[in-house]
Amino acid sequence: MHESAPAAPSLTDLGKRYWLPVYKPRDLVLDHGRGARVWDTAGREYIDFGAGIAVNALGHQDPDLLSALTAQAQKLWHSSNVFYTEPPLRLAEELVRAAPFAERVFLCNSGAEANEAAIKLVRKWAASKGRPPEQRTIVTFRGSFHGRTLATVTATAQPKYQQGYEPLPAGFRYLDFNDVAALEAAFAEGGIAAVMLEPVQGEGGVLPAAPGFLQRVRELCDRHEALLVLDEIQCGMGRTGSLFAHAHDHVVPDIVTLAKALGCGFPIGAMLVGPQVAEVMQFGAHGTTFGGNPMAATVARVALAKLASPGVLMNVERQANDLRAGLARIDRELGLFAEVRGRGLMIGAVLADAYKGRAGEILDHAAAHGLLLLQAGPDVLRFVPPLTIDDDEVAEGLARLHAALAAFAAA
Ligand SMILES: *Cc1c(COP(=O)(O)O)cnc(C)c1O
Repeated sequence: MHESAPAAPSLTDLGKRYWLPVYKPRDLVLDHGRGARVWDTAGREYIDFGAGIAVNALGHQDPDLLSALTAQAQKLWHSSNVFYTEPPLRLAEELVRAAPFAERVFLCNSGAEANEAAIKLVRKWAASKGRPPEQRTIVTFRGSFHGRTLATVTATAQPKYQQGYEPLPAGFRYLDFNDVAALEAAFAEGGIAAVMLEPVQGEGGVLPAAPGFLQRVRELCDRHEALLVLDEIQCGMGRTGSLFAHAHDHVVPDIVTLAKALGCGFPIGAMLVGPQVAEVMQFGAHGTTFGGNPMAATVARVALAKLASPGVLMNVERQANDLRAGLARIDRELGLFAEVRGRGLMIGAVLADAYKGRAGEILDHAAAHGLLLLQAGPDVLRFVPPLTIDDDEVAEGLARLHAALAAFAAA
């Protein structure tokens, strides 16, 4: 006699069985989206306040992205960088035109790769100045996030991402974010080749640089012949209400890295470099097979044009105000937040002491109420919706958040 066949595994069971268990997704399987709404395989609808971690900046199924991608898909998918294709040539020119500080562009596939290129470029630049390896230190800040490759996770000044991966590459030094005195002291000791930072820290809790901090960093870098590297992978591409987050800080960086929203969901990264470093890496110094792939570059060209447009940037401001007003309203009733901070549509709601460590639970309640939400560490709810989210979607998302937080508070 045969026993009855075991039930077919659910899709999420496949993830639990076959994926390297490095992620812990919520128990749902997303199927399709439109605008700032997404549907799962069971037909449930969600408002998307997470945008695939600040990636889907034009929402889902943007018609211009879709038509550009399908047109390119019918022409040429890949050539490698051994042969030119038009999309990455055009994209590089358009990025340089959009970035007043930049002269050249290196295209790659992800944020970590863009930062890895930046770290290598800093080292190469310092070497070209005759500085020995121990004089090529890169300063980064506690709470930062720069990626998961060995060098970028070392730049990421958070022990939880590094533990067990030792030996880590040398040449990094960590300071407290927004601590000018500590930076002055570090520079006084010497050997610093670059300071690398996010104008708004993302993963570390949605924490903007203090007013004037970037300017002080720039001055110190100039005085001590060091480079300023800005990681705008999360806060760039219009998220803060200007195309580049550092525009708010009125500084001129040497290197800026982009990824996430640059492809609006198609993987691509970029390193933009200014005049001090534009000629440092020469033939053979760096490379990638897929970087600047014509499919990715085609999508990024459309993304750049749309995300830099006044209509999108004005919408960021409008919806950010509504979202913040809504969070304040909810908080007046439920009293869950210690602080709401951020810039533009990159908003963090810091949980009050009594609820510290429970952001993950709130995300479960949010999903159950039809809202996709992110955390930034255990204590901060992170709101990074599509930059094209409309009034109705924000209102509906806030209503669902209110219900989710009420259920959480009552549990
Ligand atoms: C997401 C992120 C990265 C890493 O990008 P990946 O594409 O995941 O490699 C680096 N820096 C910042 C600020 C990020 O938010």
